[in-house]
Amino acid sequence: MSIFNFSETSDACIKCGKCIPVCTIHQVNPDETTSPRGFIDLLGAYQQGHLPLDKEAKAIFESCFLCTNCVDVCPNSLPTDMVIEEVRADLAEKYGIAWFKRIAFWLLEHRAVMDLVMKFGFMFKTCALKEDPKGRGLIARFRMPLVKKGRLLPSMAKKSFLNSYPERIESTQKKQKVAIFIGCLANYNYTSIGDALVKILRYLDIEAVIPKTQQCCGAPAYFTGAQASVERMTKKNIVLFEALIEKEQVDAILIPEATCSAMVVHDWAIFFKNRKQPEWEARAKAVAQKVYMATEWLYSATDLHDRLAKEGKKIEATVTYHDPCHARKVQGIWQEPRKLLQENYHLTEMSDPNRCCGFGGVTMQTEKFHLAEAAGKPKAAMIRDTGATYVSAECSACRVQLSETMHSAGVETIFKNPLELIAEAIPE
Ligand code: SF4
Ligand code: SF4
Repeated sequence: MSIFNFSETSDACIKCGKCIPVCTIHQVNPDETTSPRGFIDLLGAYQQGHLPLDKEAKAIFESCFLCTNCVDVCPNSLPTDMVIEEVRADLAEKYGIAWFKRIAFWLLEHRAVMDLVMKFGFMFKTCALKEDPKGRGLIARFRMPLVKKGRLLPSMAKKSFLNSYPERIESTQKKQKVAIFIGCLANYNYTSIGDALVKILRYLDIEAVIPKTQQCCGAPAYFTGAQASVERMTKKNIVLFEALIEKEQVDAILIPEATCSAMVVHDWAIFFKNRKQPEWEARAKAVAQKVYMATEWLYSATDLHDRLAKEGKKIEATVTYHDPCHARKVQGIWQEPRKLLQENYHLTEMSDPNRCCGFGGVTMQTEKFHLAEAAGKPKAAMIRDTGATYVSAECSACRVQLSETMHSAGVETIFKNPLELIAEAIPE
């Protein structure tokens, strides 16, 4: 079966319905058309020429959160998320990409201009936004295009992570060497994540390369169907990663973000396979061998865990860990951050840490924000029920969504990336 042949995927669906109770969009819009089984059925009809790709079909295919819950439980492992990503490319070709997304993707490809835009944004942010008193982000003072009044948005850094550090951070013993691929939200909005990673690497005496020419991983464009942007950014990153592996001889390329890491490790090769570019598919697969989520590598390839247990500060705070879809379901990473955190914090589990936070991508956070809001409410409630001081996840997309959803629901818990919490536990 070819996963990108919608008819074959549709024929392989045995209509068992196991995917329906776990589907994020079906939970907030309980209709067969917005369920994994319904999406697959409609895609088969589209390929056979029985369903036009009209505005209604567009709205349906844009309502999937790409959370992969359905793939996890499907007896045939049908990749609903991937076929949805593919049909979104057809939608983008037919309807074009909305103006604000085109601007955003262009800026992500042109980092020097993006740096300037973010600098201006930082200088003038108080005109439209005010600081959240708890430091969780910025609150919209009034209604703006695609943003309602009172919504919590990500904070903005005065200086990006990539502009704050030299290209190389030396070690004394030169035993291990890594490169940092930071991700756009951690570069511009949540720069404390990169600060924390650098602090941890210095503590472990690991040499770090911070390449300034790194581009966006391409995930926001990929989930929107903007294939040309994905191809340009991905190819530039693959060339950079090859140089890091061959010339710099890095042991690992660390990414402190689940979505970026899943894109690099999982989706780059699939993207080129589907575009019938076998040479780039092979290159994407080769570089992916050296790419790790930061906690995954720090736990398995260093003595960080033992050192935190022996000499780390014992912090009187409770942490509950949320499993990002792109970490646990796509990459099988869920134990490593917990094991690193539990040495220095009290860990408590929420009732369903694996439930999708409801971020859903650029379209869901803008044109379909009401769906993201509805999907986030149960997660905010289960975080509140733990009474935890912090909720943690190695994913800034989850941070955007969970911080806003907790802000709306009046939940006091603060979101921190596990690296930030680990860095706070390092002895002075
Ligand atoms: S990826 Fe998530 S939202 Fe989309 S169909 Fe599957 S379970 Fe539903
Ligand atoms: S779980 Fe898989 S086979 Fe069963 S209805 Fe859902 S997509 Fe089809």
